[in-house]
Amino acid sequence: MAANGFQCKKCGSPFVKMRAVNGVRVFFTLICVGILGLAFIIMIDQVSDPMLPEMPFINVNSVMAALVVLVLVNLASSQTINAEKKKYLSNGVLLCPACQGKVKEEQYQAHLAEEEEKIKWTSELEAMTEKDPVLRSVVQEWQMANDGAEPGKPVVAELKKAINLDKAGNFEGAAKIFEELKLWSSAGKVREKNRVQMVKHVTVDMNQLIEQIGSKGLAVPYKCHNCGASITIDKNSSATGLKFCSYCGTAYNIEEMSKIVQEALAI
Ligand SMILES: [Zn+2]
Ligand SMILES: [Zn+2]
Repeated sequence: MAANGFQCKKCGSPFVKMRAVNGVRVFFTLICVGILGLAFIIMIDQVSDPMLPEMPFINVNSVMAALVVLVLVNLASSQTINAEKKKYLSNGVLLCPACQGKVKEEQYQAHLAEEEEKIKWTSELEAMTEKDPVLRSVVQEWQMANDGAEPGKPVVAELKKAINLDKAGNFEGAAKIFEELKLWSSAGKVREKNRVQMVKHVTVDMNQLIEQIGSKGLAVPYKCHNCGASITIDKNSSATGLKFCSYCGTAYNIEEMSKIVQEALAI
């Protein structure tokens, strides 16, 4: 481990005990590795030239001792260093006691600021919903869906966006946002608006189509899908009268009906 690992991450003041233990560890490790290295070199030399003299302090005993010391010193020092680290560890970084106090104070201040921000937002939201009854009802629905919690700024921004899309006639866009926020009934309401608008649109088309049929003197047959009764679309038909079957009451498929009329007109 590099020496700069044994210092406060914030102010850089050294952890003396960890450094001392690590120094002892490095010292003994170097000696032991030196003995093992020499022993290894001598062993290789003697294999190639068995006549070489042996070194007096490199023998089986010293090699065994070096191995034992190497393992023990490293085990003991890493245990001490880890125990020491636990004292200084705060949120995954090593900090001296003074810096730990500072960080705690900073966190506390940040928490206070957060609380203050929350209170400010609550009154801001209150003022907004007071002015805007549409926003109020949507916010209330959000709160019902979220166990009475207060919607944050991003959520309210999304709600406002959906309300504006609704105003602009982009009902599907608004419905999608409501759905993402799990405001099912708001999503359903804008979708219903979308449906009503589409039906209106088709009705206008049917009026035009009936007029065209009348001017061409045509009579177009149409069959109810449910009961099979036939009706005739001609100059006497009215768009409202063509919405439901007069025999069984089933709603006609206006789109399909207008397609059939358009095909008849094209001939
Ligand atoms: Zn520090
Ligand atoms: Zn019918």
